[in-house]
Amino acid sequence: MKKSLQLIVFTIVFLVSGSKLRGQESKKPNIIFIMSDDMASHAVSAYNGLYSKVAPTPNIDRVAKEGMMFNNAFATNSICGPSRASILTGKYSHKNGFYKNEGGDPFDGSQVTFPKILKNAGYTTAIIGKWHLWSEPTGFDYYKYHTLNGEQGSYWNPVYNENGKKIQEEGYATNLTGDFALDWLKNERDSSKPFMLMYQFKAPHRPWSPDKKYLDLFEDVEMPYPLTFNDDYKTRELTAGETMMTIENHLTNKDLKLTPPKGLVGKELAKWERLGDKGEHISPSPELKGEALKKWKYQKYIKDYLACIKSVDDNVGRLLKYLDKEGLAKNTIVVFTSDQGFYLGDHGWYDKRFMYEESLRMPLLIRYPDKYIGGQINDDIVLNVDFAPTILDMAGLEKPLEMQGESFVPALEGQSKNDWRNAMYYHYYEFPKWHNVQPHYGIRTDRYKLIHFYYNMDVWEFYDLEKDPNELVNAYANPMNKETVDELKIKLYELQKQFGDNIPLEDMRDITRKGMVKY
Ligand code: CA
Repeated sequence: MKKSLQLIVFTIVFLVSGSKLRGQESKKPNIIFIMSDDMASHAVSAYNGLYSKVAPTPNIDRVAKEGMMFNNAFATNSICGPSRASILTGKYSHKNGFYKNEGGDPFDGSQVTFPKILKNAGYTTAIIGKWHLWSEPTGFDYYKYHTLNGEQGSYWNPVYNENGKKIQEEGYATNLTGDFALDWLKNERDSSKPFMLMYQFKAPHRPWSPDKKYLDLFEDVEMPYPLTFNDDYKTRELTAGETMMTIENHLTNKDLKLTPPKGLVGKELAKWERLGDKGEHISPSPELKGEALKKWKYQKYIKDYLACIKSVDDNVGRLLKYLDKEGLAKNTIVVFTSDQGFYLGDHGWYDKRFMYEESLRMPLLIRYPDKYIGGQINDDIVLNVDFAPTILDMAGLEKPLEMQGESFVPALEGQSKNDWRNAMYYHYYEFPKWHNVQPHYGIRTDRYKLIHFYYNMDVWEFYDLEKDPNELVNAYANPMNKETVDELKIKLYELQKQFGDNIPLEDMRDITRKGMVKY
């Protein structure tokens, strides 16, 4: 009796573990996480925004067509480093300690990240391209990122850090990153293991420097103007009205690719290149003034920006082609995203930071032909802190408790989840550099947005996105909205409590002042 029971138990254990093993071996998907930098969703043609007819993104669109496109993917702190830290850790800035791009501690690489978990689970892992977290990457078998001293590195002839060794490379960063990624896939990775590659571009980050062959890509085109191009910031004078990121007054000589006077070198040249940043009046010619000058600057800016994206798209195409050719496409998950959105002349701006729609929203496309049906569009609110839990889930791995995001695999599998979040929490800290955007936190539901700007002011903003999708009128003081605002405030505090960000304002101010305290 006892023996036969033992035999049954043994047989069951053997069968279960055997089938699990076989299943894992045949099904572990490869993962390629592609991330561009500062690329707004409306700069991807598939999103059908203002630039859908001109955005040069056929390869990125292909990922949308063959995968799922997310309409409401949001960053929880809309700048480069902090979003990257949230993506790696699945945690908000106040939990991973990386709040600002500059002026604080480097990213704490001893934390749990999704690449580390994948590596421990038998994946071979690599990151190639932009890193921008100041400390050395952890959790990767191989890394090669462009930088000099931890910052993001340059468009042309960048120095790369390859597993701790600095190498001067020659060429255009976007193409180099493409070359190095393909080389790793073809020649360097351990092909006995499933792979996870983070394939990350600097482009189209400022100063929007296109590849030489694309300098005149849009020569004969007049780019369309956003509806909010001439926003006068009425009802948001102290917040939106106080930024230093306007197309009109804050693009520099370098941003606009103006020709420096002959003989300028070194510090003098650098000074000339920065001119415009603080609102100095610059113009390519004395005759060009006012509205005409603003439009000229915008055309220059948006054409360079989209030309940078052309190279990103080319290099996404190279990679998709490689997957096709090697028969890897079906069992490889391809994620395409950007660390945050961007203002493409919207509200008269370039840059990001604000919780307003264009920089809050990230493009997010996910393709996995083996498992998910292509051509799907999803409207759920998903966040950058969800990426880690979702990637782990797709690889059949549990998320650790400390990760604050949730897996949205059910959405990818076409099962709507009734208990999915209906509101998101946001918190931005970096101030006054660069661009003078006040620290703020807030809540966004499918219809409303409530923001509190706090650092050296106490200003609330409320938008009904159904009535005012362009967020032009702060309707906080309108008595008609009082009930909704009160409800949103309660919900906002609930979210702060849920994520452990319910701390006194003075402590929040301290983070902006001092940097990187984890709490
Ligand atoms: Ca960025």
